[in-house]
Amino acid sequence: MDYTEIGLKVGLEIHQQLNTGKLFCRCPALIQEEKPDFEFKRKLRPVASELGKFDPAALEAFKKKFTYLYKYFNESNCLIEADEEPPKPMDSEALNTVIEISLMTESDILDEIHVMRKTVIDGSNTSGFQRTAMIALGGKIKLKNKEIGIQTIALEEDSAKTIEKKDNTIFYSLDRLGIPLIELATEPEIFTPIEAKETALKIGELLRRTCKTKRGLGSIRQDVNISIKEGARIEIKGVQELEMIDKFVEREVERQMNLVKLREELKERGIEKQELSMYKDKGVDLSLIFKDSDCKMVKEKKVFGTKIPKFNGLIGKELQEGRRFGSELANYVKAKTGLKGIFHSDELPKYGINEKEVNKVKEKLEVKKEDAFVLVVSEEKAKTALNIVIDRCIAALEGVPEETRNALSEGNTEYSRPLPGASRMYPETDIPVKKINKKKLEELKENLPLTPEQRKIKYINKFKISEQLAEKMKLNNYARFFEELAEKGFKATDTAVLLLEGLTTLKRQGIKTENLNEKMIEKVLIAVKEKKLIKDNQLKALSLWTKKKEKPFESILQELQEEQFSGEKTRNTIKEIINKNSAIINTQNANVFSALMGDAMIQLKGKASGKEISKILREELEKKGIK
Ligand SMILES: [Zn+2]
Repeated sequence: MDYTEIGLKVGLEIHQQLNTGKLFCRCPALIQEEKPDFEFKRKLRPVASELGKFDPAALEAFKKKFTYLYKYFNESNCLIEADEEPPKPMDSEALNTVIEISLMTESDILDEIHVMRKTVIDGSNTSGFQRTAMIALGGKIKLKNKEIGIQTIALEEDSAKTIEKKDNTIFYSLDRLGIPLIELATEPEIFTPIEAKETALKIGELLRRTCKTKRGLGSIRQDVNISIKEGARIEIKGVQELEMIDKFVEREVERQMNLVKLREELKERGIEKQELSMYKDKGVDLSLIFKDSDCKMVKEKKVFGTKIPKFNGLIGKELQEGRRFGSELANYVKAKTGLKGIFHSDELPKYGINEKEVNKVKEKLEVKKEDAFVLVVSEEKAKTALNIVIDRCIAALEGVPEETRNALSEGNTEYSRPLPGASRMYPETDIPVKKINKKKLEELKENLPLTPEQRKIKYINKFKISEQLAEKMKLNNYARFFEELAEKGFKATDTAVLLLEGLTTLKRQGIKTENLNEKMIEKVLIAVKEKKLIKDNQLKALSLWTKKKEKPFESILQELQEEQFSGEKTRNTIKEIINKNSAIINTQNANVFSALMGDAMIQLKGKASGKEISKILREELEKKGIK
């Protein structure tokens, strides 16, 4: 495919959750997996902007008349997420992180931060708007062979997460609401699918270098804006894997090219807008035909249908792998009415609907050889649904309609809503304008995060850790903390092992390591350094402290110290082990030390350090003349 010839233009908008506190309240940004503490219901309605306009996307959402049910978690939520209390000032750690990214991309940082409200009416924000603040403009990132412009960098609050949709109720989980999101938008200067992927991966790396991003599925989401010369601007929402970006671009190009081909075919067939419009509001009741049908979906149901003149064979035309023009029609109906979908003539007979029934439908609707028909199963929504189908067919005469689409698996997409209009931002009056602190800016500029390559070299050469550990640490969220600790003189290898492997072990044991902050980890390391805690107990100390966060560390330390043996008690235990195993010792076997060491480690676990046990064991064996 010659992407230059078809005029492909792609722009990315990357949303990355930050691993700081929430943006406008002081709740922790913790994702919950347990049951909510309580639930509440809301209904939302659109409010006209200051210019008196309603946003088209907001209106479409409102027309569906949904009720929203929110799940609230005491640990992750307060009255601010419930929209019962005004927001607090912006989290400074989140702001500093976004400023760092702005500096790293050579963007122009604004002098003042104005928080704005962006209308969101799908219920994902309890307030009906999302707070967002522009931080910087006009930066760039460097790819292998070219530079891509960064249009804007903004800081905004994440929305509540949809859990399920049931009838007219949408269930949302509030834990995610208010988590800071950095929104980074590139210029539409990406011209091939591979370039789109390279850009996304580069931005992903850039964000991770700050060590302040959340990790795992759902923590990064990108919107991809795609257009080709003959097509239209399409916004694909919610691509979660950066590695899939090229696939999404390829598939969207394929879809737009096929819609252009469809347009040409329609022109050739001489179909006019007027001819199609005539069939609006002309749905015919076909229920009787399906009274005794073998298809459960239509049997004894209200079935309405309409003719689509001259569309025979076109509804079944493939647009993307496994997705036809008929899938587009069905998506429109689904998204705008909540109905499950449609049946169309290009796919029937199928699903238990037989040829006889199809012929009866054709007869009743006066469908001729060149025509198609569409059926919907509903009474009250039939007229709306069939009109939506006809409108989408009319739009096909023009080619590709501009719209927002949802990312599906394997790179395909489906219609979700119209492109949002420009009239959906207005000032957030609850938060005062904030001036960027010049001194802080200079300080951040002096201490920008290293690149992964710089880190690896420094870790190996200066901190003397293994290449393997350095490789794992260079893009880890603890990289900058590790650098700080190594500079302070903590043993680099031990520290890296604790941060990389120790914390993973704790997580596997079900400990909420996200509740551990760097201060806590440093305190534990200091206790080990000052010999108040044996190294073998450092994970235990962290796990106890996470579970009893309200307890002062000193009392946890004391608890563990009481379990630890004094040197003398350790020596006595080892002597006992040697005495019990006199039979082995008398054989003068060369492996006596390792045999007894294993035994001693089990008996003295958590009570003495491995180093001490080994030293005493050696001494005691030597006394018996064993080396
Ligand atoms: Zn809160």
